[in-house]
Amino acid sequence: MDFAYVHENVSAIRLHVEAACAKVGRDPADVRVIAVTKTAPPDILPALSANGIKDAAENRWQAAREKLMHPAATQLTWHFIGTLQTNKVKYVTPRFDWVHSVDRLELALALAEAAQRLDRTLNVLIQVNVAQESQKHGFPPEACLAAATAMIGMPNLVLRGLMTMAPQVDDPEQVRPVFRTLRELRDDLQSRLSLATFDQLSMGMSQDFPVAIEEGATMIRIGRRLVNP
Ligand SMILES: *Cc1c(COP(=O)(O)O)cnc(C)c1O
Repeated sequence: MDFAYVHENVSAIRLHVEAACAKVGRDPADVRVIAVTKTAPPDILPALSANGIKDAAENRWQAAREKLMHPAATQLTWHFIGTLQTNKVKYVTPRFDWVHSVDRLELALALAEAAQRLDRTLNVLIQVNVAQESQKHGFPPEACLAAATAMIGMPNLVLRGLMTMAPQVDDPEQVRPVFRTLRELRDDLQSRLSLATFDQLSMGMSQDFPVAIEEGATMIRIGRRLVNP
């Protein structure tokens, strides 16, 4: 398969990132574009790297596994963004640098224990169910202070911020309040916990990332618009 189209996709995303940043006076360098490779074959990895993508994400261990075996995988920083069963923590911890989807303390503890055993550090984000959708994972906003406080005390985890998945809507403007709520929650927790490194907001996907950037996203997770021809 020919991955020449990746160049155009990356350029288009970068233009949108710059435009959204310009609108609100942000520096595009403060927005990390994470390629969600879950639907793409492993051979896409060199094309992503060649076009300046430094971060990749997977939401399931099964699909991640074959990509991580590709030689080009070592050029990327890997983010785990999906529901993570505790029995898969032992596979994910050695290979991923970030876990965005910490949705329960039991998972945080398992990650901390695995990281400690491997003598490595994991960057973690608390997944927040901002819109309180019953089918979605994540802590309700009011539970995040207690969760963060507990996680700060866990060894080998660096609590870096918050992540959310916005509801699917036709007009991305409809989810602006979700992104704004997550930023306000991040700001509130950052000052309550006096934690300077609690500075990340993982929010925005293919259909809504410009709005997420306007509301302060520091990491956008782009699947379809980057990896599909
Ligand atoms: C698949 C996925 C994305 C990317 O979605 P696209 O709409 O393809 O950009 C982002 N975040 C999570 C958690 C995902 O599972």
